[in-house]
Amino acid sequence: MTEPRSLDLIKKLIAFDTTSRESNLGLITFIQEYLSGHGVESMLVHSEDGTKANLYATLGEKEKSGVMLSGHTDVVPVDGQAWDTDPFEVTEKDGNLYGRGTADMKSFIAVALAFVPEFLKRGLKTPVHLAFSYDEEVGCIGVRRLIDKLKDMPVKPAMCIVGEPTSMQVVTGHKGKRSFVANVGGLEAHSALAPHGVNAVEYAAELITYLKNMARRFEAEGPYDELYEVTHSTVHTGVVAGGVQLNIVPKSCRVEFEFRYLAIDDPDALEAEIRDYAAATLEPMMKAVSAEAGIDIECVNDMPGLEMDPGEDVVAFVKALAGRNDHAKVAFGTEAGLFHTSAGIPTVVCGPGDIAVAHKPNEYISLEQITKAEDFMRRLADEVCGG
Ligand SMILES: [Zn+2]
Repeated sequence: MTEPRSLDLIKKLIAFDTTSRESNLGLITFIQEYLSGHGVESMLVHSEDGTKANLYATLGEKEKSGVMLSGHTDVVPVDGQAWDTDPFEVTEKDGNLYGRGTADMKSFIAVALAFVPEFLKRGLKTPVHLAFSYDEEVGCIGVRRLIDKLKDMPVKPAMCIVGEPTSMQVVTGHKGKRSFVANVGGLEAHSALAPHGVNAVEYAAELITYLKNMARRFEAEGPYDELYEVTHSTVHTGVVAGGVQLNIVPKSCRVEFEFRYLAIDDPDALEAEIRDYAAATLEPMMKAVSAEAGIDIECVNDMPGLEMDPGEDVVAFVKALAGRNDHAKVAFGTEAGLFHTSAGIPTVVCGPGDIAVAHKPNEYISLEQITKAEDFMRRLADEVCGG
């Protein structure tokens, strides 16, 4: 096998520790300099504190709308993971490249960058836009600032390909996610006088039970989408913390929960249902004992799902680039839902690498997947270039 043209760039990008808690500016500056070396200007959209940035660049005419290639530059932590190699140095072994971010998702970014010289040399009749974000792994935070800018641009990209690891499958959908913290506030009392207090842990338990019954309802009654591994919307409680000692009626309890919903389910309606239950059923009982008691529910993250009609141009276009006719939906969330929902850009997800090895020790990508991604990029060049 000949060495992939993106190999050197993959190695360079992996060597930047862009764990979400760290700055990504070293990597962004590297890309900016690489692009400017080819005569391409970049626009940076920084985080509020200036320690991170999104990068946006257009190859070809800025006045025309084109195809956007998008990826996140951050990676998940390696803390506590038993790696056999240095996660921030690419190790090639048995046809695989090992390193944090090889699959998720620096290889796609490297492949896109490796084709910049070819795009420019062949001359673009349709522009290619590059959009690289920060803080995707902590709730798709960074890209929202870039999308705010994109929305105001006179010419927006006509379509977007998010290169998350799908093993080069064409992905037209993923679920949306909304996550919450509920702070249940009660009233302390000696447990011998339990009815004089408001037991925050018990009210939290009633809230959790209500959520569990919603989950059972989704499972039993649907709606269903057979393209998903879990075919219905889900509700899940992940953290509960409350109480100090058995003989004290607990004053507070904290509950973290989330919905992962199909496009057909309305997240506002799901959220309203749980808020109504807390406000109309639980709080009156709590306030009958103490006016200060109550349940405060805060939405901490809201990630829209992706649901592209398979008849959309972007789907046929990306199928042709990937050399396949099928499409799929995936369990994991991506920035694609935001690009489509918030910026109005038709978007699909398609990129090299297997999501099953992402976020784990010894994350890798096969050279075969890199080759497929390069073939994809070559076909894109055939589509967007004149010569
Ligand atoms: Zn990712």
